[in-house]
Amino acid sequence: MRVLLVGGGGREHALALGLASDPAVEGLVAAPGNPGIASVAELREVAASDPAAVAGLAVEVAADLVVIGPEAPLVAGVADAVRAKGVAAFGPSAEAARLEGSKTFAKEIMMAAGVPTARAHTCTDAESTARALDDFGPPYVVKNDGLAAGKGVVVTEDRAAALRHAQECGQVVVEEYLAGPEVSLFVVTDGEAALPLLPAQDFKRVGDGDSGPNTGGMGAYAPLPWAPPGLVDEVMADVVHPTLAEMRRRGTPFAGLLYVGLALTAAGPRVIEFNARFGDPETQVVLALLETPLAGLLHAAATGTLAAHPPLRWRDGAAVTVVVAADGYPASPRTGDVITGAERAGIIHAGTARRAADGALLSAGGRVLCGTATGPDLAAARDAAYVLVRGVELAGSHHRTDIAAAAVEGRIAVPD
Ligand code: AMP
Repeated sequence: MRVLLVGGGGREHALALGLASDPAVEGLVAAPGNPGIASVAELREVAASDPAAVAGLAVEVAADLVVIGPEAPLVAGVADAVRAKGVAAFGPSAEAARLEGSKTFAKEIMMAAGVPTARAHTCTDAESTARALDDFGPPYVVKNDGLAAGKGVVVTEDRAAALRHAQECGQVVVEEYLAGPEVSLFVVTDGEAALPLLPAQDFKRVGDGDSGPNTGGMGAYAPLPWAPPGLVDEVMADVVHPTLAEMRRRGTPFAGLLYVGLALTAAGPRVIEFNARFGDPETQVVLALLETPLAGLLHAAATGTLAAHPPLRWRDGAAVTVVVAADGYPASPRTGDVITGAERAGIIHAGTARRAADGALLSAGGRVLCGTATGPDLAAARDAAYVLVRGVELAGSHHRTDIAAAAVEGRIAVPD
């Protein structure tokens, strides 16, 4: 199988490692890729959100499967354009990607499908926003209605800050605060059959102890030793299958990766958000534990044959990833700094570039790289991930020091 992977972040580096290690993959091309992905794939330039450009490249490289990593190309219709050329694509249609592209649409689907989620109002002006904030009370949750690269959400006790965020965004969704530990569940689906991957937890806030602003994600671990038994079955029955059925009923089946972001509240699991693609950085830990060949799995989802796919196999143990972020991230990351110590197995590149003059590795994004490690248990995986991160030198960089710490110490409890 020849595979074209679209994207160039940490998620795509993790996907590239998984795809390259599948014996069925004879050729892997990544566009645009990154310097980490370059060690396992041929890199090509492409405007990743240009449907015609990606579809053209898929044909040119004779791809049997196109795997689309980021959300923007999906929302732009890249999967549709690839399929129109007769090439299998892993990723939902533009219509189905609205589950991520519009928070209002996602709420509509959840309401229609009876999926448990936070109560919410869509607001377009200061007056309706103020009313919604007062309806729910603090802490206030205000979400940009469109795509915002994981940074469109403000959760705050400060009513004025909540109003300010709403004003900056234009159309927002104001919703009830959900209290309880968060879980990310990835589900591979062909629109009908659906296979859950291992649940993971990520860390959205920039600082230790969940302090500071939200980011794209500062680290993750899997599996979740504190997750209630039966959680995945419950989410598949109450969230995933009703959502997929509603999307089919509307004539816009969702095929690809359905990311279910949940809060485990005292009243049970509640959906915080859907994404239409693998989450970053949870992908790094989930795929590190997946033993089943990745390309075969994604190809089955892309070709409507997932029901015939064998059950997934997982490695024993646990995985932890810790993100190294650039100086100033998330507000105004500085780029162009030299990185050393990154040439190690387990270092996943997220925002890096090679300097043309001498091939030096430079920071090129807010989240620069992550140290990803597995171990016989969570404590060992965590130690190994931090050994990787401490070996990296990048001026002004920062990382959280508490990724997976509460889980290792047994400090996470699901409210009852
Ligand atoms: P989202 O982009 O919707 O995933 O939101 C980003 C982060 O904001 C989530 O991972 C949560 O930590 C937080 N968040 C979003 N919605 C809520 C909510 N209704 N209650 C509590 N926290 C939330």
